Amino acid sequence: MYRSHTCGELRADHINKEVALSGWVQKTRNKGFMIWVDLRDRYGMTQLIFDEERTSSEMMEKAAQLGREFVIQVTGKVIERESKNPQLATGDIEILVSEFKILNASLTPPFTIENETDGGEELRMKYRYLDIRRNPVKENLMFRHKVGMKVRNYLSEEGFIEVETPYLIKSTPEGARDFVVPSRMNEGQFYALPQSPQTFKQLLMVGGMDKYFQIVKCFRDEDLRADRQPEFTQIDCEMAFVEQEDILNIFEGLTRHLLKEIKGVEIGDFPRMTYADAMKKYGNDKPDIRFGMEFAELNDLAKNKGFNVFDQQELIVGIAVPGAASYTRKQIDKLIEWVKRPQVGANGMVWAKYNDDGTLKSSVDKFYSEEDLQAWAKETGANPGDLILVMSGDANSTRAQLSALRMHLATELGLRNAKEFAPLWVVDFPLLEWDEDTNRYHAMHHPFTSPKPEDIALLATEPGKVRANAYDLVMNGNEIGGGSIRIHDKETQAMMFDYLGFTPEEAKAQFGFLMDAFQFGAPPHGGIAFGFDRLVSILGGHETIRDYIAFPKNNSGRDIMIDAPSKLDNAQLGELHLKVTE
Ligand code: ASP
Repeated sequence: MYRSHTCGELRADHINKEVALSGWVQKTRNKGFMIWVDLRDRYGMTQLIFDEERTSSEMMEKAAQLGREFVIQVTGKVIERESKNPQLATGDIEILVSEFKILNASLTPPFTIENETDGGEELRMKYRYLDIRRNPVKENLMFRHKVGMKVRNYLSEEGFIEVETPYLIKSTPEGARDFVVPSRMNEGQFYALPQSPQTFKQLLMVGGMDKYFQIVKCFRDEDLRADRQPEFTQIDCEMAFVEQEDILNIFEGLTRHLLKEIKGVEIGDFPRMTYADAMKKYGNDKPDIRFGMEFAELNDLAKNKGFNVFDQQELIVGIAVPGAASYTRKQIDKLIEWVKRPQVGANGMVWAKYNDDGTLKSSVDKFYSEEDLQAWAKETGANPGDLILVMSGDANSTRAQLSALRMHLATELGLRNAKEFAPLWVVDFPLLEWDEDTNRYHAMHHPFTSPKPEDIALLATEPGKVRANAYDLVMNGNEIGGGSIRIHDKETQAMMFDYLGFTPEEAKAQFGFLMDAFQFGAPPHGGIAFGFDRLVSILGGHETIRDYIAFPKNNSGRDIMIDAPSKLDNAQLGELHLKVTE
């Protein structure tokens, strides 16, 4: 028997009991006549004591040899601790060791395995199994498990069943590049790893499964923008005989349940915002609505006043920054520099201070009277003490730039409170999105998304204006999930492929299986997928999803612990019918 109890279990009630514990040596303190050892396992920490008066000299010697991270097994008596530690669950007791065994020695770990560590991120990733021994990482993994269980139980209660779908599939275009896997048995042919189980879950609806979910790995070979992983986890769902409203209700219910059970936060009906409004008010399809600073369009107020820069632009748009009228010129110049960085890409920015005494002072006083600026203040909702910032340019880029600034300022002003949760649905996404690089329309969500029936006629004339039955769940400025009502008939799907630039032959080669299935009684259906890693990290209050993934990849998509990706030897390449050209 390795242990009778865990290292987190013993309390004052256990005093005088004989127990056996196993775990890792976190730390030892050796006073010569007394040695204390902190013994750790997943459940906690227990103090062991070796004491000259009560322990054999042979054992004292052996205990003195113990190093950090040795794995040991001890038996001994639970005794009351002289100086209790209220910080520790087991802090009332310690174990007077009568016997112990070293189960495995350890090299000195490359960083200290304590809550606060001296190891940098790369080092901790290389020895991730050691990092996992640290409380913060261990607790994040346990937290992830807890959220996963709540999701499974909730959806199962709602009648969903978890069905696994294959990982070795055929490429489905969902906007990213596929990871591919060569087939040894089928020369020159490749599987693709799923970007999501999209077509399979639709086929499960054709198969009559009615309500499907799966907590599932998805793979996308994208350039890794901040906080993305090439493999990530989704809560993937699909339902038959539903309309958009049914899906929003179920998944709003799930989100509310998680917020309540995990964070103790009760939230009423989630607000809904159309994509068009989100872009207009926040310049962003995933607005953080924990704070204000809504956009105010100033075209009518700011054009034709002799200020050339504004006169020529498609959009003039401003925000009121609360309490920032006191910013110095230096602080404002810093903000202007910030928006001019290539990552944001603005040409400049106009400002107006709404002073506490009600007067206004701006960088464009030459062109705008106090009255003009009062009108700006009214439109942006500025109060005395606020700073009005105004940007201009073509509508899309200006909105994106001001949105970046809005988030930057909110972070600076401490308005993004991690303890506050502000979910909302963004609905009525455009069906298609123009792609400058390929000079073509792309499906904004994916090619299986159904257009709003009332907009279908626009497909021929103004494809960019067609709205889809597509929706995103957004929380605190993050997209938590997205989905759509699907096309479920062959004709509409064929028409969609046509708009997306597939020839009938290409569509058949890539999606023949789906189009075939639609001829055998496909029910109306729709679904959604939540980004599980992101959801867990938001609920957990951390910034990065890597904190909640046991073995994450770094920013170049590498696993530096196992050193992947790596080269294959020629024999293996040959078997796969592959040749690497440099
Ligand atoms: N498959 C979609 C995605 O991964 C989600 C969905 O439409 O259900 O974004």
